[in-house]
Amino acid sequence: MQPFTLTEARDNKGAINILASNKNAKVIAGGTNLLDLMKMYVERPEQLIDINGLDFKRIEVLPGGGIRIGALVTNTDLAYHPAIIKQYPVLSEAVLAGASAQLRNMATTGGNKDREELEEVKRKTENEKKNFEGYGSADEIKKNYLSNVRSKAAAKVNGQLKKLGLPTMPEHKDEFMELCNKLGV
Ligand SMILES: Cc1cc2nc3c(=O)[nH]c(=O)nc-3n(C[C@H](O)[C@H](O)[C@H](O)COP(=O)(O)OP(=O)(O)OC[C@H]3O[C@@H](n4cnc5c(N)ncnc54)[C@H](O)[C@@H]3O)c2cc1C
Repeated sequence: MQPFTLTEARDNKGAINILASNKNAKVIAGGTNLLDLMKMYVERPEQLIDINGLDFKRIEVLPGGGIRIGALVTNTDLAYHPAIIKQYPVLSEAVLAGASAQLRNMATTGGNKDREELEEVKRKTENEKKNFEGYGSADEIKKNYLSNVRSKAAAKVNGQLKKLGLPTMPEHKDEFMELCNKLGV
């Protein structure tokens, strides 16, 4: 890990000011994702802003029937909140199906959604999908898949998928080839 400074944010404005003034600053919540990425040199922030003291730990039932979930609500608090269990039982079950109790106690909702990265992966995946449109035959799809899976663009997408802890394209290759064999392509 490379050296970094740790600052505790006292209010939202303070955290935003640091983020705006240092492009190598990052917020840290539970640290269950970010610290691993830092240990592997995937993330190299110069400054970490600990946002755990900020007021984003509430789950609020809204008058219209919806629910507002604070960015610092932990997975445990989310899964066991009575309103979530009642109105969104599948969400509660999905959260409890992930990770371990220790991790769920630390992991936050905000940390799970690095929206910019997800949007970037989505955009690149959409572009890749376009490459597959309009192929004339299954043989052509197989040929293009095999060349795409090793392309520079795919390497970039795979890097991002890996960073997000999602399966990469080469990880699906065996499954794809098995399917081709089954279909006689
Ligand atoms: C063994 C293991 C198993 C896991 N299993 C699962 C699983 O089953 N399902 C799953 O979804 N995830 C899983 N994770 C991933 C991780 O625990 C979750 O994504 C968790 O919610 C991250 O939250 P955190 O508070 O620890 O984030 P951090 O590690 O603190 O931060 C992660 C990223 O989000 C940013 N961030 C944090 N808070 C905010 C905020 N409020 N606003 C904007 N950006 C923010 C940080 O800057 C950083 O880029 C697992 C991780 C491990 C190590």
